[in-house]
Amino acid sequence: MSKLDELLFGAKQVASIATRKTGEAVEVSKLKMQASQVNAMMQSTYERIGNLVYEQEKTGTDNSDLIAVCIKEQDGLIVELNEINTKISDIKRGVTCQRCSAVNPYESTYCSKCGANLKKPKTQPQKGDGTSNPEDSTEE
Ligand SMILES: [Zn+2]
Repeated sequence: MSKLDELLFGAKQVASIATRKTGEAVEVSKLKMQASQVNAMMQSTYERIGNLVYEQEKTGTDNSDLIAVCIKEQDGLIVELNEINTKISDIKRGVTCQRCSAVNPYESTYCSKCGANLKKPKTQPQKGDGTSNPEDSTEE
């Protein structure tokens, strides 16, 4: 494992030099790695749930509490995976300038075309969308 790590580390260093300009590509691959880790965790949770259900059916042991815990854990992982995937697609989509609608790389602070500040998004009034979240009042 350590040898492989060394190899990977070396490759990564080379890659990070090669893609220094495209930080978002690095970010995306980092996120993809996270996603696959979460995926692996989900697989093992599914397996655990399966085992618990199997045991319950087979031996009559009441595993419902444990199953509930696993399902809760799994739900958390699903949320996490969704967040990671949303981030990935956000990065891929880039940031659209509010002023000139030029598409800039995700991490840009200023629009490369008109120089507008991209980090200060105007609050978009989303109306007619039934899923309003009252907690989201980040106005100052
Ligand atoms: Zn612009």
